[in-house]
Amino acid sequence: MVIGIDIDNTITHTTETIMHYARIFGEQRGLNTTPDPRYYYLEDTLGWDKAVAEEFLSHYLGCIYRDMLPKEQAVEVIQELKREHEIILITSRNRQYPEVEKITREWLDQNGIAYDRLILNATGNMHYFSKLVVCQQNRVNLMIEDHHDLVSEICGHIPVIMFDYPYNRHVNANNVIRVEHWNQVHKWVKAWK
Ligand SMILES: [Mg+2]
Repeated sequence: MVIGIDIDNTITHTTETIMHYARIFGEQRGLNTTPDPRYYYLEDTLGWDKAVAEEFLSHYLGCIYRDMLPKEQAVEVIQELKREHEIILITSRNRQYPEVEKITREWLDQNGIAYDRLILNATGNMHYFSKLVVCQQNRVNLMIEDHHDLVSEICGHIPVIMFDYPYNRHVNANNVIRVEHWNQVHKWVKAWK
């Protein structure tokens, strides 16, 4: 089986790391630093101007991608899956940000994430791209993802295991399995076989 796996907030604790740096940046500028977890994007969750959010990311994205921690059991479960399946990491991280691909590959190696291929976003949208086409081109049989719009897009075609977050609670489809822990992913993939 070919398994597609998203990186941010699926393999990693991305939001926690973003909020750590957002507090530093926001407190220096008198901005709100208390997130509303119902929203996904920085400008929505903190109520910052889009331009301010972009300025923050252009300064801190490298630190954020270097510092973040893998979720509990993510490393072990992905290593286990890789023994029997092809693993393709598909991320909205944009290749146009300087060094993003290099930092991402270094982080994956340093943290022992097992994978066959990494596909980054090469579109003009810096934080989002449609992953359905990528899944189809690479014959992905199962996708693991957290982003509400991507889950909704992909689940019409292939099953999706979705990591539960307040911002994706409204997603409710037959082809979507909601999980909170990587051990549950392991169980579901085994059941599919
Ligand atoms: Mg994600």
